[in-house]
Amino acid sequence: MTAPLPLISLRSVSRTYHTDGVAVAAVRNVSFDIAQGEIVAVMGPSGSGKSTLMNMIGLLDLPSEGEVHLEGANVAGLSEDRRSSLRARSIGFVFQSYNLLARHNAIENVALPLVYCGIGRKDRLARAEASLQAVGMLHRAHHFPRQLSGGEQQRVAIARALIASPLIVLADEPTGALDSRTGAEILALFAALNRTGPDHRDDHARPRHRDAVPAHDPPARRRARQRRDGGPAAAETERCVMTMLQGFQIALHALRLNPLRSFLTMLGIVIGVASIVTVFAIGSGAQLRLQEQIRSIGANVLMITPGAVYQGGVRLKDGSKLTMTESDVQAIIEQIPEIQAAAGSIAGTAQVIHESKNWNTTINGTTTGHFMVRDWQLAAGRYFSGTEETGAGKVVILGSTVARELFAPGDDPIGAQIRIMKVPLEVVGVLDRKGPAQDDVAFVPLTTAKLRFLGSASNINRDSVAYIIAKVAADSQMAGARSEIESLLRQRHRIPAGQEDDFKVQDPAAAMEAQQGAIRTVALLLVAIASVSLLVGGISIMNVMIVSVTERTREIGIRRALGGRMRDIRLQFLCEALVLCLLGGAIGVAGGITLSMTVARMAGWITSIDGEAIGLALVFSIATGLIFGFYPAHKASRLSPIEALKTE
Ligand code: ADP
Ligand code: MG
Repeated sequence: MTAPLPLISLRSVSRTYHTDGVAVAAVRNVSFDIAQGEIVAVMGPSGSGKSTLMNMIGLLDLPSEGEVHLEGANVAGLSEDRRSSLRARSIGFVFQSYNLLARHNAIENVALPLVYCGIGRKDRLARAEASLQAVGMLHRAHHFPRQLSGGEQQRVAIARALIASPLIVLADEPTGALDSRTGAEILALFAALNRTGPDHRDDHARPRHRDAVPAHDPPARRRARQRRDGGPAAAETERCVMTMLQGFQIALHALRLNPLRSFLTMLGIVIGVASIVTVFAIGSGAQLRLQEQIRSIGANVLMITPGAVYQGGVRLKDGSKLTMTESDVQAIIEQIPEIQAAAGSIAGTAQVIHESKNWNTTINGTTTGHFMVRDWQLAAGRYFSGTEETGAGKVVILGSTVARELFAPGDDPIGAQIRIMKVPLEVVGVLDRKGPAQDDVAFVPLTTAKLRFLGSASNINRDSVAYIIAKVAADSQMAGARSEIESLLRQRHRIPAGQEDDFKVQDPAAAMEAQQGAIRTVALLLVAIASVSLLVGGISIMNVMIVSVTERTREIGIRRALGGRMRDIRLQFLCEALVLCLLGGAIGVAGGITLSMTVARMAGWITSIDGEAIGLALVFSIATGLIFGFYPAHKASRLSPIEALKTE
């Protein structure tokens, strides 16, 4: 039978520091073996290299020369991350200054190394209880380090060192800060624990090759275990990895400790996201309103309005004279085959009265063709009859808004008498809804309007109309119909070649679509401005994170010593940045929705909050967190654990 492999084996180990061109040999040519179950004390005056030696055994540092073997494997060949994983599972540290995390209570401190073994919170706490029990500190589990005496803190630190049932416990002057009696108690505790091992019964929850207590580990069994695991070099197995969830838990804990600072840090993101959501909501509300207007005009509609008029060589304002006539409408209908329907209108405003109710609205004098052009159906009643159109019938068709304002909900408007400018009219129809801007209108026959109400507007020519709308059969015929109308009207109005038209043919839907494009441009501009706020928010997060990394250097050192890998530290700080941004984003979305609803109510605008904008804002804030959190997180992960542990 071969001699058992030493647990720790140092071969001609030296460690030399080079600072400012001065070489300090902290450890010089040290060789020794330590077997399983042994307690070894390294003694020497301050500065003799004890800590340096211990850091090398603990894989926090590598020798300048010589080799350190753990369970027979040279640790020099291991990557930084593998050494960290090995630390998490195989090595427990106890420091002179206890090095408990001040903002975590005893049980959380004890459970900390298990985070880096990927063990869930419930298991962690159960095992931490057992570990605290083993050092006689269970009754102080929920006390914070500042509430504990030095000896008690060191007991908690020992419980933490033992929790993963390590192969090796390294204690660097563990009694150095304690009075001699407490120191003796701590040493006695170490000796007792080495004999019995910590009192763990939940073996299944531990990494499987830690199930043996070092002092009772028979060599044959240990060798078998080494074969199975491939020695420490292969010891970074599936389980020893901190999960994303644990990263978020740590991040949330850190942010909760500083709620005001956390909130102020995310304010930039909150404002940026809220602005983006608001701009999108108002912008798409405006788009919706325009689309509704386009729909309400009807498909393939051309609108002909009066244009420039010259009187004795002087150009008058567009529309200052009604240049179109009812016979123009008739000619358009009869001579242009693409035109399905057309109608001339004159309009004004007046008070409409029904019994005790009255309402100010637009009075539009037109023909039934108007409703054909605009595809405007009736909700009740009928359109104008032929005799009413030619004979100035005293009838009116109401838009749904006017009907609602003049009649109580149960009342049937059809057949009722209303009055406009003292003229009694019978309601013959109520129109379908087309949109708030469209429905506030009352239609009367064109002849009625001229004769009874709006006659003064047409005193230049009894035949005049204010504008004409015409419906073209198909979208593809719009351009053709338009030029035909233009040449027809030029000819009818006897406009000599070279002179401007006295009318304008417009495609209102196309004009509104152009307007829609303009709204989109403005909205994009505003989003760009809001993005600047996101950028500023991101920079402020980066700034605070950098400060926080500096503040928490020692915490980072402790976490590294307890087995946190560089990427675990990076993940922790990245999670903090992400949580800040996501929380900021969520508050921003809520704020944006509230703001846009308030604005909408106060200004009477339509807003529409779409999921797309919210998704976009959240994606933006996650990206901000990742981009601006990366540098501080990277910086934190690059800290040397030994240096970090030395900072105050
Ligand atoms: P001990 O723990 O026995 O008091 P240390 O191992 O801390 O001693 O230090 C051993 C020697 O190495 C001391 O002379 C110390 O000044 C030096 N030393 C330790 N760390 C560094 C370092 N990072 N850079 C330069 N010299 C160092
Ligand atoms: Mg020391």
